Amino acid sequence: MNWDLTDLYDNENSLYLDLEDTKKEAISFEKSYKDKLDSLKPKEFLKALDEYEAIFQVLGRVLTYAYLNFATDSKKGSFLAKIQKEATKVEESLLFFEIDFNKIDDEKQKKIIKKSIDKSFYLQNLRDGKKHQLSLLEERVLLKKELTGASAFSRLFDEHLSNLKFNFNGKEVAEEVVLSELYNKNRDIRKKASESLTNGLQSSQHLLTYIFNMIKADLKTDIEIRGYSSPEEPRHKNNKITQKSVDSLVDTVLNNCSLVSEYYKIKKDILGLDKLYDYDRYAPIDNSKDEYSFEKSKEIVLDSFKNFSKKFHKIANKAFDDKWIDVYPKEGKRGGAFSHSATPDVHPYVLLNHTDRRRDLFTLAHELGHAIHQYLSRDVGYFSGDTPLTTSETASIFAEMMVFDYIKEDLSNEELIALYASKLEDIFATLYRQSIFTTFERRVHAIDGEVSSEDFNKIWLEENQKMFKDSVELTDNYKIWWSYIPHFIHSPFYCYAYSYGQLLVFALYGAYKKSENKKEFVKQYTEFLASGGSKSPKELISSFGFDIESSEFWQIGIDEVKRLLNEFREIVKADFIKKGKYKGSSLDSNRVIADIIKMSKD
Ligand SMILES: [Zn+2]
Repeated sequence: MNWDLTDLYDNENSLYLDLEDTKKEAISFEKSYKDKLDSLKPKEFLKALDEYEAIFQVLGRVLTYAYLNFATDSKKGSFLAKIQKEATKVEESLLFFEIDFNKIDDEKQKKIIKKSIDKSFYLQNLRDGKKHQLSLLEERVLLKKELTGASAFSRLFDEHLSNLKFNFNGKEVAEEVVLSELYNKNRDIRKKASESLTNGLQSSQHLLTYIFNMIKADLKTDIEIRGYSSPEEPRHKNNKITQKSVDSLVDTVLNNCSLVSEYYKIKKDILGLDKLYDYDRYAPIDNSKDEYSFEKSKEIVLDSFKNFSKKFHKIANKAFDDKWIDVYPKEGKRGGAFSHSATPDVHPYVLLNHTDRRRDLFTLAHELGHAIHQYLSRDVGYFSGDTPLTTSETASIFAEMMVFDYIKEDLSNEELIALYASKLEDIFATLYRQSIFTTFERRVHAIDGEVSSEDFNKIWLEENQKMFKDSVELTDNYKIWWSYIPHFIHSPFYCYAYSYGQLLVFALYGAYKKSENKKEFVKQYTEFLASGGSKSPKELISSFGFDIESSEFWQIGIDEVKRLLNEFREIVKADFIKKGKYKGSSLDSNRVIADIIKMSKD
């Protein structure tokens, strides 16, 4: 099942025609407005801004088409590069606009922002970004150099990994296949898959280390010439949040790592193993029915969305019927999954690599959550629809929780254990693993000069060990597994946004479940999503009565995880007692139980 890109363009020819028109429009836009913005009345400025946005929207459409083509066929790399180059040329004519906006005098700028409604947050951010902005000439040089700078290394990373073959059981297979075997029930296969991943990556260590170092150096240059105080700062600015709120999130997560180690001790008991190694982390907890075909997953997701909101159900249905989704892995297709917002006049596109596992069901829910968010926010326009990373993961994780609650209703005890285990593991992967990625990156980027492969390995192991403590032994194979994580290359310091989104959702989802007026909550939540990125996360979340800068806020999320872990522990304990396997130990953690008692009192 492939997606249908004809909603973007019928073929490459019609794309080129659109691109030609846009080029002309951009040139005439430059002629009309360059060096003249400060003489415009606010109303005239806003008209120019609409034209400016419209040109970017067409460029967005062109780039989306080229990128989505490349995503399912890595041979289209040169087509994508060509389109990017053309788009860059168009952007060059538009570069003056944001710079000239910041030349408008203060009072007038304020007036414009006040009048601009849906675009006021966007303009306010431009105004705030003034101190990091360079001259037109400098910005032009940087833009021209971008395609042969960091983004070239990013493309090299993608192309290299999607062509890299891994020797597994005598066959040459793709990364996605090996990664998927880490979830195999058979311990020997998991171990072999982990060795195969290591061996495959090992052969590319020089290249992957080099790419990471170039990304790091490029970011450092950016920080210096734009006058940021740390390599993370631009990301926080993009995310529209403060360093303080990120630190408070990461600290809260790291202070509660014992939840992870307590979980893995229970898992060890369930699997009946003496010791857990890194290749046992994803061992499925016995469940022979763990088969979620795409059709079955689709049905589950649609039903659980329907229970929540008719509107959600309708949009998801549209996604399936109108072929927004590319479902299965294939030769040359990139790994992972995403939902691309495309442009407000089209619709989002979803890429999956469905392999019939339970996690694929949750990935479908996750990406459709994104797609619904992107679709709902199209009314605020191309610029304002774009959500910062901190809130862009909200709808996706919320959708996963809906599916979790939906499928747990009619499961046997054994299946329930498997479901909770995979949910908790998902949470750890999102909340903890991503925070550890962040502390790993912090250490890497803090090093002066190039980092050796050995140092990458050392930092990677040390940071990961913080999360597992004594519950999982990390083998020597594991030490180079930093080298296939795309986020470190594509978007440094991206990962904490997953943790951020996750904890935010736990608080919101808890509020939804406790809410006596569910209809009102759904209305509020839908409005929140429809606002896209037109308001700050702080403002959006405050509409639910939460303050994202208070440490109590993050603790609410952690307490929800504790509650899930405790429910899991109780289900496992009951099951062990029933089967005469109960020996206490990991199933009686005083700490967590004491916490839960404390929670119910507060
Ligand atoms: Zn996501």
